[in-house]
Amino acid sequence: MPSDRRMFLSAGLGVTAALASELTTSAQAVDRPPLPGNVSLEPEVRAATAHDFGRLIHRQPRGVLRPASSADIVSLMRWAKGQGVKVAARGQGHSIYGRALVEDGIVVDMSAMNAIRDIQQDRVAVDAGATWRDLLDATLALALTPPVLTNYLGLSVGGTIAVGGIGATSSRHGMQTDNVIALDVVTGEGKEVSCSATENPDLFDGTRAGLGQCSIVTRATLRLVPAPERVRRFQLFYRDLPSLAADQRRVLTEGRFDQLQGAVLPDGSGGWRYQLDGAVYHATGSAPDDKAVLSGLSDERSAAVITDLTYREDALAFGKFETLLRSKGQWSNPQPWFLTFLRGSNAERLAAGILAGLKGDAVGPFGRITFYPLFTKAFRTPLVRLPAEDIVFVFNLIRIPASNDAATAERMLAENRMLYDRIREAGGIQYPVGAFAMSSDDWTAHFGSGWPQLREAKQRYDPGHLLAPGYNLF
Ligand SMILES: Cc1cc2nc3c(=O)[nH]c(=O)nc-3n(C[C@H](O)[C@H](O)[C@H](O)COP(=O)(O)OP(=O)(O)OC[C@H]3O[C@@H](n4cnc5c(N)ncnc54)[C@H](O)[C@@H]3O)c2cc1C
Repeated sequence: MPSDRRMFLSAGLGVTAALASELTTSAQAVDRPPLPGNVSLEPEVRAATAHDFGRLIHRQPRGVLRPASSADIVSLMRWAKGQGVKVAARGQGHSIYGRALVEDGIVVDMSAMNAIRDIQQDRVAVDAGATWRDLLDATLALALTPPVLTNYLGLSVGGTIAVGGIGATSSRHGMQTDNVIALDVVTGEGKEVSCSATENPDLFDGTRAGLGQCSIVTRATLRLVPAPERVRRFQLFYRDLPSLAADQRRVLTEGRFDQLQGAVLPDGSGGWRYQLDGAVYHATGSAPDDKAVLSGLSDERSAAVITDLTYREDALAFGKFETLLRSKGQWSNPQPWFLTFLRGSNAERLAAGILAGLKGDAVGPFGRITFYPLFTKAFRTPLVRLPAEDIVFVFNLIRIPASNDAATAERMLAENRMLYDRIREAGGIQYPVGAFAMSSDDWTAHFGSGWPQLREAKQRYDPGHLLAPGYNLF
C-alpha cells in the first residue's frame, strides 16, 4: 500500500494517532540531540501543521520552526543535516495532498517571513512567506501588479514558486515562475545562496517549479507591470462543450480578452452548464463596447453576466467564494482536487469522454471543472511540464464534496488516479498539486526530459534528501 494512502486511512484515527505519535516522539527524544531552541514542540502548534487544505493526509511533525530570518533556517538545516531529519517548508498550507507535511520531521512555517521590501517600477523584492494578497495590496499602492495572479490570493509566494502558479493571464505571461527575476534560498545543505538566470542557474531552475526539492526560498525578486484600473468581466454560457471550446479557441487566437478562463459547472439538476470567462482591462471612464467584445460569439446571450470591478476587487473575488464555502462548512471538508493540462489536439474529445463518465456529484454543488485553452509560448520555466503543443487546455476537477465523508473522498482519490492514467495515456500532464498518490517512477515520467536536471540539482543542493518529503519524489 503506498505510504500516502496509509496516511490517509490513519487520518481517521484522529486523536488516537496523534497520541501514539506523541508517545513515540517522547520516547525517541531520550536518545536524540536537542532540537534548536527556537523549534516549537507545543502539541497545538504541531497539530496545526499536521494537515493541509486538502484534509486527506495527516502527518505529525516533531517540531515547528517559525523563522524570523534566513539565518534561523540555515541553523535548522545544518542541524537537520547532522541528524538526517526531514524538513518541510510550509507557506499557507494550501496543498491538497500532504505536500507541505512531514512525519516526525520539522515544519518550517514561513508565514512570519512576509516582509515586502523594495518596490520599483519593474520589480519587487518580497519575503517568500508573504501572501499574494498582501503583495498585491503593496504594489497596487504604486499602481503596479505582478503580471500573473492565482485565482485565490491566500497562497504564499514561496508555495506557488514551488509548483508554478498559473492564472487567467498565463497565455500572455506564463506562470508566476516565469516572472521571477531572482531568488534567495537556503539549500538542503544549510547554505544561503542567491540565484537567477545568470547566477547559479541550475539552482534557479531547480527551485522554480521544483516542488521544494532543492531549497527553501526565503526571498524572491518578482517582475511587476502597470496595473489596470478596471476589469470588465464577461461570463458567457453555452449549450454544450464543443460550442464553448470553439469560442474559447476563437477569442484566444484573436487576443480578444486580457484574461481567459472557463468551466463546466453543475447545473443543480444532475447536468452541466458550460461557461466562458473572459475579461477586458480598461481605464476608468473608458469601458469597452460590449457588443464589439462579444461579436460573432455563439453563447446564449440572454444568460450572459457582465460585471465591471476595480482590478483589486476583481483579483480578490475568490474571497467571496471562500466566505460562502466557510459559511456552509465546506471549506474544511476533504478536497480531492485533480489538475491537469490536456493536449490541444485532443482536449475536446478527451474532456467530453471523461465528462460523460462522471457522476453528477463528481465535484459537489459548489465545485467546477475548469476547462480553457492556453497558449504555451509564454511558459519558459524548465520544470513546468506541459504537453508540447502550441495550445493546451487546463482540465481541473475542483472537487468540493458537500460532506466530510471519508468514503466519498476515497472514491474520488481512486477516480483521480484512473483519470490521471487515462489523461497521461492521451498525452496530458498533471499540474503537480492534485490529490492522488504518485510514485517515484510516476514523477520521473512526469518530469520527462526535465528529470535529469532536477535529479542533478537535488543531488547537488539537497544530497541528504531532507527537503519537501511530502512529494515522495526521491
Ligand atoms: C483555494 C485554492 C486555490 C488555488 N488556486 C490556484 C491557482 O489559481 N493557480 C495555481 O497555480 N495554483 C492554485 N492553487 C494551488 C496552489 O498554488 C498550491 O497548492 C500551492 O503550492 C499552495 O501554496 P501554499 O503557500 O499554501 O503552499 P504550501 O501548501 O504551504 O506548500 C506547497 C509546497 O511548496 C513548498 N513550499 C512552501 N513554501 C516554500 C518555500 N518558501 N520554499 C520552498 N518550498 C516551499 C512546500 O514544502 C510544499 O511542498 C490553489 C489551491 C487552493 C487550495
